Amino acid sequence: TDACLGAIDAADALNAYVHKTPEIARSMAAAADARLAAGDAPAMCGIPVGIKDLFCTKGVPSQAASAILEGFKPEYESTVTQNLWDAGAVMLGKLNMDEFAMGSSNETSVYGKAINPWKVDARDLTPGGSSGGSAAAVAADLCLAATGTDTGGSIRQPAAFTGTVGLKPTYGRVSRWGTIAFASSLDQAGPMTKTVRDAAIMLGAIASVDDKDSTSADRAIPDYEAAITGDIRGKKIGIPREYRMDGMSDEIDALWRQAAEMLRDAGAEIVDISLPHTKYALPAYYVIAPAEASSNLARYDGVRFGHRAKLAAGDGIDQMYARTRAEGFGSEVQRRVMIGTYVLSAGFYDAYYNRARRVRALIKRDFDQAYASGIDAILTPATPSAAFGLGEMAGKDPVEMYLNDVFTVTVNLAGLPGISVPVGTDAQGLPLGMQLIGRPWEEGALLNLAQTLE
Ligand code: GLN
Repeated sequence: TDACLGAIDAADALNAYVHKTPEIARSMAAAADARLAAGDAPAMCGIPVGIKDLFCTKGVPSQAASAILEGFKPEYESTVTQNLWDAGAVMLGKLNMDEFAMGSSNETSVYGKAINPWKVDARDLTPGGSSGGSAAAVAADLCLAATGTDTGGSIRQPAAFTGTVGLKPTYGRVSRWGTIAFASSLDQAGPMTKTVRDAAIMLGAIASVDDKDSTSADRAIPDYEAAITGDIRGKKIGIPREYRMDGMSDEIDALWRQAAEMLRDAGAEIVDISLPHTKYALPAYYVIAPAEASSNLARYDGVRFGHRAKLAAGDGIDQMYARTRAEGFGSEVQRRVMIGTYVLSAGFYDAYYNRARRVRALIKRDFDQAYASGIDAILTPATPSAAFGLGEMAGKDPVEMYLNDVFTVTVNLAGLPGISVPVGTDAQGLPLGMQLIGRPWEEGALLNLAQTLE
């Protein structure tokens, strides 16, 4: 804890932490010492972690990196963070992210961009997003692990951009209670760590069956660390041909082959498969996620939480709502709310939202069929490129940013577990990640396969 607190202060330039909690950290570390001395050593006893600003932490600012939640200090603790504290973990502070987890570069944060500790010729690169602060903090040793959330790739893409491990669990494995909602049918919290084994330990700590989240699954939580046996003989790994996108770089292609080779050398069988509806995933995601976001963000009205605009004489409640939301939400969030409201509106609901839901069912069916045919996991790249430069996307069509999520959104639409593992580097020496997608509820088997790629 002391080493991390020192490193955090020395690395202010990365802007990974947006709120440091050194006093809380020291008292939690002392409590962990006492538990250890008493012979009670839970799984993460004394392990210092950083928490994405999307998680509500009691009495500690929790703003989802948005101006609209300015001054918001929750009265309650999210289930994920409570589970961490129960497991003995130590809170170092809150981590930077894209506003309301909308983005892929951590540039939409009210706190300003987080910076990737990896550099090319001293040029600042994005750590990815939305869990950019989490990824930067893990990569720069500003914590031993961090929480992330993943609605369309926000754990896996930043992990790939920073050479760290990021796991999105099966939808329902981890409670969403107290995690500020973006798109409720897609959101899932997960571990961001240095190694696959750490991800297994942390998943075991944060997963729980929770009455406070009706989508939390009533399933036994296995010992994920014990599942990492190193034996993957006979496992069938699918390579989906639709993920071989036009214009994919040779580097990514070569890395994909290398990862398949590593799995084959360890005794797995590599099989070509087809997931035919893949090309519709990104458009379906960018209808469904904004639709749910527009509904979830309706609660920020200047009355219940955070910021309220100053009113002029004669202003009524409508002006108060409008002005508060115009001031409090950044431009990407406003774009999502407008798209979401449009696709849910009476005249367009069937053409957009309902159609996207049907596409989502087809995408899920593609995966179901692959798994029914005996495939154990699916191997794809995690991202189309290595980390890009900060500011590189400014002024471009926002869809360019959305294209970053092309390999990750399918997993959320189907509710499956997915992990990004660092495998190799690009020509500039930047880390690249490969993604393994698992069978639902089989994170243990997924982690075991992922360790082969480390
Ligand atoms: N980049 C995607 C988006 O902007 C995914 C974000 C996420 O997973 N939270 O919606």
